[in-house]
Amino acid sequence: MPLPRSTPVDLLLDATLPDGRRADVHLRQGRITALTAPAPTAPPVGGRAVDLGGALLLPALVDGHVHLDKTFLGAPWQPHLPGSTIRERVAAERRLRREIGVPVVERASALAELLITQGTGHARSHVDIDPDVGLDGLHALLEVRERFRDRLSLQLVAFPQGGVVTAPGVPDLLDQALRAGADLIGGLDPEGFDGDPDGQLDVVFGLAERHGVGVDLHLHDPGESGAAQLRAVAARTAALGLDGRVTVSHAYCLGELDDHGFGSTAQALAGAGVSIMTNGPAGPMPPVLRLREHGVRVFAGSDNIRDAWWPYGNGDMLERAGTIGLRDDLATGAAAGALGLTGYGLSVGDRADLVAVAAAGVPEAVAAHPTRLLVLHAGRVVHAADQL
Ligand SMILES: [Zn+2]
Repeated sequence: MPLPRSTPVDLLLDATLPDGRRADVHLRQGRITALTAPAPTAPPVGGRAVDLGGALLLPALVDGHVHLDKTFLGAPWQPHLPGSTIRERVAAERRLRREIGVPVVERASALAELLITQGTGHARSHVDIDPDVGLDGLHALLEVRERFRDRLSLQLVAFPQGGVVTAPGVPDLLDQALRAGADLIGGLDPEGFDGDPDGQLDVVFGLAERHGVGVDLHLHDPGESGAAQLRAVAARTAALGLDGRVTVSHAYCLGELDDHGFGSTAQALAGAGVSIMTNGPAGPMPPVLRLREHGVRVFAGSDNIRDAWWPYGNGDMLERAGTIGLRDDLATGAAAGALGLTGYGLSVGDRADLVAVAAAGVPEAVAAHPTRLLVLHAGRVVHAADQL
């Protein structure tokens, strides 16, 4: 019998910590209150103690970039429509979106449930804001955020999937989205999509300043064009004092630069405190270790899961970390830092948002697709495997 959902847990016996130590982890009122050496004999087990039997315990995984409103999960399988440019794909998605017939709340909830079973406790979702859907997607995801508030913490980025300055009325819609509850302002290829880098960045950073919110931009633009936009984002971030609150998602161009171009761009990003999100694509991608050597925070996200852009995906952030580079902190500490999460970790006082996985250590966890044995949010069970 799996542990029933929302059971409060106040003791995790015999956990393996990421540094290899074994410990009993004491929890109270949604926080970690103590880490003690495993007791030689297990204390009496009531309904609120769980013996992990040496399983690896991690802070809940962080999915730093998803699109909950786009997924087809919860609806019948949709054939994938190809498109060779971003504009063609946006148009194909609009067609599918009209035909799908299953409301966003239902599809997004199906994906949120999947993320939880994968051990994800925190996610940042972009939500389309365009002249076609207006704020409908945002209202749906605000409802989903409320529905899942005890199981998954969710940040929402107002994402102009159809462009900013080339899409009529979008700057105003983005402004309304931030007033309605979006947490961050997004953007999309200021040069490649809008053909007006300064124009789009003026709107995006203007809204960030006016509403006091962070920024998370999609940037697929290649080579020197992409790099110039990264440096422009860094300059605007520094000018507005947004250190640590700005992310550029994808930034494929960082994988295409010569040493000089890479060095100056990485230095600008690090100096301004701009983070980079990658999902580990097959093509050019940001070189994670080189960026970190320059002091740039790099973290991970799933991006598209079973939607018009990408028919694959399962929301498994350990698998994602393995794909990108066998580094668990892409989906834990670095991602938590980029999302501004507080009380995140495995120290006394941290939030009891935790995942126990059937692995003996971190390398095995990112390489071996281990079972998620137990997932806690604020100290309560949100997912438990049958074998516990
Ligand atoms: Zn995305």
